[in-house]
Amino acid sequence: MGRSLLIAVTGVCVCLAFAGCDRDTPPTEFSFEIMGTVASGKIHHDGDGSPVRMVEAVFDSINFQLSSWRDDSEVGRLNAAPAGTAVALSKWLNDCLIVSEALHKTSGGAFDPTAEPLMRLWGFYRRQGHLPSLAELDSVRTLMGGYTHDPDSRTLTKQRANVRFDLGGVAKGYAVDLAIADLSNAGIRSAMIDLGGNLFCLGAPPERDMWRVGVRDPLDKSLIFATMALTNQAVATSGAYERFVIIDGKRYGHIMNPATGRPAEGLLSVTVITSSATLADGLTTTLYVLGPDKAVDLLRTHYPNVDAILVLPGEGDEKARVLATPGLEGNLEIQENYTSRYLLSFLKF
Ligand code: ADP
Ligand code: MG
Repeated sequence: MGRSLLIAVTGVCVCLAFAGCDRDTPPTEFSFEIMGTVASGKIHHDGDGSPVRMVEAVFDSINFQLSSWRDDSEVGRLNAAPAGTAVALSKWLNDCLIVSEALHKTSGGAFDPTAEPLMRLWGFYRRQGHLPSLAELDSVRTLMGGYTHDPDSRTLTKQRANVRFDLGGVAKGYAVDLAIADLSNAGIRSAMIDLGGNLFCLGAPPERDMWRVGVRDPLDKSLIFATMALTNQAVATSGAYERFVIIDGKRYGHIMNPATGRPAEGLLSVTVITSSATLADGLTTTLYVLGPDKAVDLLRTHYPNVDAILVLPGEGDEKARVLATPGLEGNLEIQENYTSRYLLSFLKF
């Protein structure tokens, strides 16, 4: 990325400096609630608002099909299916499982599409936190795994009736990839779509080379602490601040560490930049579970071409640390008012 990106970024900055001479047709902007979060974006196109309806339709369908929060979704029905019977999967669920299983393998189980019983035990589905006992944690971890999936025939067989799936770690990214594919097929060349922190930058705004993307401050999600310039890339951010339950006044985030049975801790947020929104979504969850050291190892070993930004809390009076992959050097810029609070360094791969 390095040098060519730097030139392109400069191009964007020049464009921004001349913002007053913007000759573009304004994009259609949208924002609506779905999947317990907000979908928003900008689409540059000629004609009426139909591309927005296209995006809405995709997100609706994914929500309907892949939610583990509803019994009547495909995942809900799979969760209720008996053991020993091959269940036919839709292409969407099959695709999400393929990405999930690859992450499960590379991460040594940190990403686990069968983490549903953990989410349930901690009270996420009823939105009412529950602090489990050690006995509960031990027994729930025996419920994970235990299925065979044949991606070619698109079938899945549970080994026990109580194997239950939660695709929440990849479903939003997958929905974004589908929506972008639909927009591209409809001839749209410039759009930015964000589904709850899962973003895709298609092309660039008219007469610019890149989209400028902000990374949220994990300590105050209404602010951005850094920006970068991107084109035809997905960007996903995960942090415990997105969704959590409160038990005895303490916050517990919705990303589970299968090794401990507890919500993962250690990072403030993780951002991943790569060409697939599904992978970006799944990897943010995975890296968050692994924590800083193992996250860097995973990136180095299995995903050397994926860019990432890890935000670590500072200890005591220390600044929060921002670790970024080498591919972001020359692109990622910490906002001026954050340089005194966030210490940026680039990893060496
Ligand atoms: P968000 O974008 O909403 O922050 P993430 O992409 O970070 O979501 O994923 C969190 C979601 O992933 C949880 O709500 C749950 O559905 C699922 N999940 C939680 N822990 C795991 C895990 N260890 N492996 C796979 N999926 C998980
Ligand atoms: Mg994710």
